[in-house]
Parts: sequence; C-alpha cells; structure tokens
Amino acid sequence: MINNTLIGKTMEEMETLMVSMNLPKFKAAQLYKWIYNNQVPDIMSMTNLSKPLRDILSRNYELHALKLLKISGSKSSAARKFLFQMTDGSKVESVLMRSGKRVTICISSQVGCALDCKFCATGEMGFKKNLSVGEIVDQVIQLQSYSKERITNVVYMGMGEPFLNYKRVITSAFLLNDKNGFGLGAGRITISTSGIVPAIQQFAEEKQPFKLAISLNASSQSQRISIMPIAKTHSLNSLMKTVSYYIKNTGRKPTFEYVLLDSINDEPADGKRLISLIGKLPCKLNVIPYNEIDGLYKCPPESRIKIFLESLKPAPFMVTVRRSKCT
Ligand code: SF4
Repeated sequence: MINNTLIGKTMEEMETLMVSMNLPKFKAAQLYKWIYNNQVPDIMSMTNLSKPLRDILSRNYELHALKLLKISGSKSSAARKFLFQMTDGSKVESVLMRSGKRVTICISSQVGCALDCKFCATGEMGFKKNLSVGEIVDQVIQLQSYSKERITNVVYMGMGEPFLNYKRVITSAFLLNDKNGFGLGAGRITISTSGIVPAIQQFAEEKQPFKLAISLNASSQSQRISIMPIAKTHSLNSLMKTVSYYIKNTGRKPTFEYVLLDSINDEPADGKRLISLIGKLPCKLNVIPYNEIDGLYKCPPESRIKIFLESLKPAPFMVTVRRSKCT
C-alpha cells in the first residue's frame, strides 16, 4: 500500500532513499529539484530519472500529500480559499491573496487548534493533529501550480498554531527557502504565533532567518486573557520580554498583528496602551479589521476603525491596515 509521499522529504531523506535502492546519492538532488524547483505534476514527468526508477517511485510513493477538494471565492476576487483533504480524511484550508504585485498565500500547520482564541473558528474545533512537513509544503506547491503568477509571500497564519508544530514548520520553511528547493527568500516567509513563549525563545536562540509575527490583539493582560486563553500560560509580560530578547539576539523587526474587534479592543484608549506596550521596540503593527464568522464578535464599523487608527498616529512604529481573509 502507498503510505508515503515525496513532497516534504528533505535532501537528506531523499539521499537515504536513493542509497536504500542502491542508487547514487546525486539522484536525490535530481529528484529534489524536480519536486520543489520545477514542481512537476507527477513522477513520470521527471525525465532525467530512468524509467525503471520512476516506475519504482510511482509504485511506492505518492508525489502529493494533499488532495484538492474545492476552491471557493470568485476568480475575480482578491482572495481564494483552497480546501484540501489528507490521506486520513482530515481537511485543511489555505488562502491565496493578490494585492498589486504581491501574491501571498496563507497556509495551515495543524488541523484544528488547541488554543481556543475566542474570535477564531478553528479554535472552536479543538486540536485534531499536527500537519506533516509534506502536508505543509504541498499547500504551497499546489497553490503555485494554480496561480499563474509566482507566489511572492508565504505566511503561516492559517489553521493551527505553527509554534506548537515547531520542528515540522521550520523544516517546511527551509524547503520553501532553499534556492534548490522552492527558492523563496527567508524574508518572504512569515511565521505567525499567538505567543508561545518558549518557542519564540528557541526561534530567537536559533537565529532563524524567517520573519516573526505575533498575534497580539490586546494591550493589557486582562484584555488578552479574555480573548486569548493562552495568555494565562504565557503572560503578556513574559511575551514582551521574549520578543525583546528576539530583537536583541537576531537584529530583526517583528510584526505585531492586532485583530480589531468591535467594542472589545478598538477604543482610542486601547491604541494609547498599545503604543506604551510596543512603542519602544523596533517593530511594525498590522491592524486587521475582524473577518466576521458566526459568533459573538463583530468587525467595528468604519467610523470606529478610523478613530482607532487616529489614536495610533503618535506611534513611532509603522502601522498598516490589512483586510485579510486569512484569519
Ligand atoms: Fe489557533 Fe490561531 Fe485560531 Fe488562535 S487564532 S485558535 S492560535 S488558529
């Protein structure tokens, strides 16, 4: 029975595979290039591999880890959603967004999520499983084959908390970044966390080259706990200390994400507190008016969004507003 996929294997794993078949190691480099660099649709298209090798690979491996079930959103719209099924039947979503010359995709790292952020549909599902490296990378490969334009940015901001699947997320980011792999610059790969402090610490200590985004969404500990229960385990205070360490150790600027929720965190006083909280750090702030689901929370009306943004005018950091379909 086929129970293994090629997408997601690292160069070392492909070398081990070749050696196990009594083949020279350089065949692994050819296979790797076909998969990540050329993104061929099937094993038989890997024309510089011998026919017998392609036959063996086809008999024993699948190329893809995911089956595309559905694409939603009109072709003319800026965002399209892709629903994939994994071999165990579970489903996961990715989003492709176009804005000017940017083609950004938002990918998932888990099925469901344990963190139960109160404004999030995925949080309501609870945690189901961690995605494999192949299931993460295949979202990018399949969205690239769909998109006529080259994907310019990848954000780990779909289903799940990426830092609770740390090892596989980092391995997948390296496959996307490798110039012999997918070849996307590290500065174009963003990992967004809701604030898993020990993992941010590890990310900083390892001086990972990828961009870090922190889903902050609140300007005080009590406010954060009310919408993000993870703040009980990793307090706002410890989060800010660890982010400061990240900046000091890597010299990189993190981005704070702030999902704007009507009458929850959108008062001018919230803006003022936000400036005191992060204003001394080299950072950027993305304000994301809430993308409503059926639930308690609403997106503020434009007039409130405007007043909130006014309150951020004195901020020393750059503020952008992102209308996202990702969260
Ligand atoms: Fe999980 Fe992210 Fe949803 Fe929070 S917002 S529950 S971290 S998927």
